[in-house]
Amino acid sequence: MIRPILIHPDPRLKKLCDPVAEITAEVRQLAADMLETMYDAPGIGLAAPQVGVTKRVIVMDCIKEGTPEPMALVNPEIIWSSEDQTVYEEGCLSIPDIYNDITRPAEVKVRWTDLDGKQQERQFAGIWATCVQHEIDHLDGKLFIDYLGPLKRQMITRKMEKLKRERARAV
Ligand SMILES: [Zn+2]
Repeated sequence: MIRPILIHPDPRLKKLCDPVAEITAEVRQLAADMLETMYDAPGIGLAAPQVGVTKRVIVMDCIKEGTPEPMALVNPEIIWSSEDQTVYEEGCLSIPDIYNDITRPAEVKVRWTDLDGKQQERQFAGIWATCVQHEIDHLDGKLFIDYLGPLKRQMITRKMEKLKRERARAV
């Protein structure tokens, strides 16, 4: 089921999300819905708070062409970051049509629980590394525009408020 994506500003996007205590059918359904919502958008990553669920769940698939590689990460945690940094032009499904260069560690090692309840660990590089950091930020109530200066952030927030008003009128 495709779930509606919250648009910034929204208090649910600023919350520290709760860890998932147990992999239940509900958690698996949430991950499946999030992947469907992400592919439909389309996007390469989505965090549970973006669909209004303040739990520590993210999904990603950074494969642009070829066999899809859907990933669902429960309680993801960055356990190592490279000193090397990289710049990517980031966007966010909760901040439509806004893109900005953001600097982050080029590689990160992440530990998480998969949908079978097993602990996994993997080192991410390239676009995957940027994406996983962006999505984990969401679980801590942080958006990519929080890395920008206050004036720029304010300008983007005003633009989004306007977009939300227009969408509300169109319904
Ligand atoms: Zn995002």
